[in-house]
Amino acid sequence: MDPKTALFPGSFDPITKGHVDIIKKGLLIFDRIVVAIGKNSKKNNLFDIDQRAEWIRQVFKDEKRVSVETYDGLTIEFCKKINAGFILRGLRSPGDFEYEQNIAYANKELVPDIETVFLLSGLSYSNISSTIVREVIIHKGDYTKFVPEGIVFKDIF
Ligand code: ADP
Repeated sequence: MDPKTALFPGSFDPITKGHVDIIKKGLLIFDRIVVAIGKNSKKNNLFDIDQRAEWIRQVFKDEKRVSVETYDGLTIEFCKKINAGFILRGLRSPGDFEYEQNIAYANKELVPDIETVFLLSGLSYSNISSTIVREVIIHKGDYTKFVPEGIVFKDIF
């Protein structure tokens, strides 16, 4: 496993300023971050997976150390497949931690040499979730506060 590469998995439906904050902080630790969008999430996604990937690529177009992939199946298997030594996850709250801890232990059980690393959300981003952003977008609110600059949803509906 490459100890300099982290997988940052999620739905990114859509990417938010909170995600960007975690990726930027992750780049202080890792040489490379692979943002991975899971295909078989049971969640009802609002945006098409290729569109979600495209937005992330757009945000990090000048950062060669960030790449974007989509994957099927277990996150830990994809992590192994691309040889990443770490899974990176963001924490906004104790609720996030409780949820993440179980997944991290299960992943550790499945593949002991991949470690999960948690980074705390920046204070000003801790209340941002893609779920809330989707609600704002659907109801035509001002989503620009929550998503990276340059991401525009106006022609979507
Ligand atoms: P998932 O469906 O796997 O939770 P998300 O796209 O919602 O996918 O989140 C991906 C990762 O980003 C998760 O680790 C999540 O905790 C983290 N994350 C989401 N929003 C924020 C935020 N505002 N601040 C920090 N981390 C966040």
